[in-house]
Amino acid sequence: MDIEEFRRLGHEVVDWIADYRASTARGEFPVMSRVAPGDVRAALPATPPAQPQSLDGLLDELTSLILPGCTHWQDPRFFAYFPSNSSLAAVLGDFLSTGLAQLGLNWQASPALTELEELTTDWLRQMLGLSAAWSGVIQDAASTATLVALICARERTTSHGAARGGLQASERPLIVYASTQSHSSVEKAALLAGFGRENLRVVAVDDRYCMSAEALRRAVEADQAAGRVPCAVVATVGSTATTGVDPLESIASIARTHGLWLHVDAAMAGSAMILPECRPLWQGIEAADSLVLNPHKWLGASFDCSTYFVRDAQHLVRVMSTNPSYLRTAADAKVRNFRDWGIPLGRRFRALKLWLLIREQGVQGLQKRLRRDLEHARWLAAQVDAATGWQRLAPVPFQTVCVRHVPQGMQGEALDAHTLAWVRRINESGRAYLTPAVLGDRWMVRVSFGVEATEHEHAVALWRQMREEAERGS
Ligand code: PLP
Repeated sequence: MDIEEFRRLGHEVVDWIADYRASTARGEFPVMSRVAPGDVRAALPATPPAQPQSLDGLLDELTSLILPGCTHWQDPRFFAYFPSNSSLAAVLGDFLSTGLAQLGLNWQASPALTELEELTTDWLRQMLGLSAAWSGVIQDAASTATLVALICARERTTSHGAARGGLQASERPLIVYASTQSHSSVEKAALLAGFGRENLRVVAVDDRYCMSAEALRRAVEADQAAGRVPCAVVATVGSTATTGVDPLESIASIARTHGLWLHVDAAMAGSAMILPECRPLWQGIEAADSLVLNPHKWLGASFDCSTYFVRDAQHLVRVMSTNPSYLRTAADAKVRNFRDWGIPLGRRFRALKLWLLIREQGVQGLQKRLRRDLEHARWLAAQVDAATGWQRLAPVPFQTVCVRHVPQGMQGEALDAHTLAWVRRINESGRAYLTPAVLGDRWMVRVSFGVEATEHEHAVALWRQMREEAERGS
């Protein structure tokens, strides 16, 4: 493709995306894709083209073959999973990142990439009200950040055992603690970091689905008494099912007493901490060792943009650093080389999308949107609380409301079947998209607000449809 063809097609692509976003904001597509497994693949050639092809028909193919296979995460009626906002300014940042095609192997390989990442993560730190003791780096996903955190914990507890025999040389097993409500990425990270499933303690939660500090204390003491070595605890601020908030202050105090690394997973709800009124919820955060928060979720920085903050950057660098001759430069003593702040060597210019997002919306613009989303959740919670036959299953500290509709006398598997049926009818209608989840041992439905385009009228329409579908025949 030559430059002029790129210019022509590029303008068409931007127009196509702008039209797509406008249609999505008007709710013109079924929110959840209606294709069956294999449909998208079957519509496309099974073998690659032998000869160069013109991309002139590309946009028509996108419209007819690819769009039907897309679920529309930016649709204002998307209430599933969690918001994964991709603000238009961030989209431009991502275009620029790919267009500039920088690869941040070290500072010298792209000084701007490195320094803009330092700057934007520090802007975010200030927005979150975190002290200057923290420094940040952008990772692809929270799963990676949590893996890095547990590796750092392991290396602190073993005084850098990886440089010797690693975990295979440990006589006493190292233990990781997380709650029953922690995200599956925590278990995955513990396994990948070599702790072993037997050494992952799943700590009980209280009746608000938050980690019981008392259960944590008992588990840590039992492990110590048995000669095992408590190593790390992962606390969640905004758990995946209910957005529960683990009691950070009490957990931090246990961590301090027993020398545990405290990692905080605030992947989804951490964005709310740009609101000063939410910060009491993570009281104690300054006592943590590491923190992950995904601007690619609620904040709007377009996937992938996960920020990992640490208090002891030197420890992180010592654990993660590699120093082959071809990467060394004269600037090394004076700069950050982000390859030493995580797992991959190569690094995209992800900071551009965060930079454009924060500049275009301003801190106050972002705060206003998040406050609006919190208000939507509070409004729905109030409707559910007031409606006969409906139960709200958990507190609503952020933007997610967990509900169940319980027809009189219905329980057990019949109730599960009812829940899954009404949510399926809503999803198949194309007019909204919700995700069910198991809480305790029964299915419930999560209503997750936070899509940039969602306004009060969408919350009202959703509640009306929930009632119509769930109360049908009851
Ligand atoms: N932690 C929590 C609390 C989450 O809600 C999620 C997202 O689903 C994750 C971790 C995983 O995020 P990622 O997809 O960035 O790895």
